Amino acid sequence: MIKVLIAEDNAVNRELLRELLEARGYTVVEGCDGQEALQLIEQTKPDILLLDIGMPVLDGFAVVRKIRENPRLATLPVLAVTAYAMQGDREKILNSGFDGYLSKPISAVALAEQLEPLLSKRHGRSAPPNQSYESQASEETRVASAILGGGTNLE
Ligand code: MN
Repeated sequence: MIKVLIAEDNAVNRELLRELLEARGYTVVEGCDGQEALQLIEQTKPDILLLDIGMPVLDGFAVVRKIRENPRLATLPVLAVTAYAMQGDREKILNSGFDGYLSKPISAVALAEQLEPLLSKRHGRSAPPNQSYESQASEETRVASAILGGGTNLE
């Protein structure tokens, strides 16, 4: 079970991210501001954080700074989710402690491209959960048909 924490103040964006992530088999936890995100990291131990930049209470830059300063959290992968898609912002974001960058509107392809390498580095797996389950299921089917095939040959 791979758990993704979404920290985003916009309910529509949260819902979109949740749907994209759940469709790929991830477990999703949601927070609405930066302070809540920090609490949810401690409480729910996510595998990765999708962090909006523009949020009330604490913005994304402040949250990622606190994460990197905390030895227990410092290695948590953090992806920025932001509408700040202008030239120079990407560099600023990557220099601020984020592992990557997703610009709004979020595309399913870009999300997967950013998320999966970070998770595979952390978990030693390259496929998202749903793909893993599928290949596991087809492996079981192959084994089962090999056994059934062997039984048939014995008759
Ligand atoms: Mn926002």
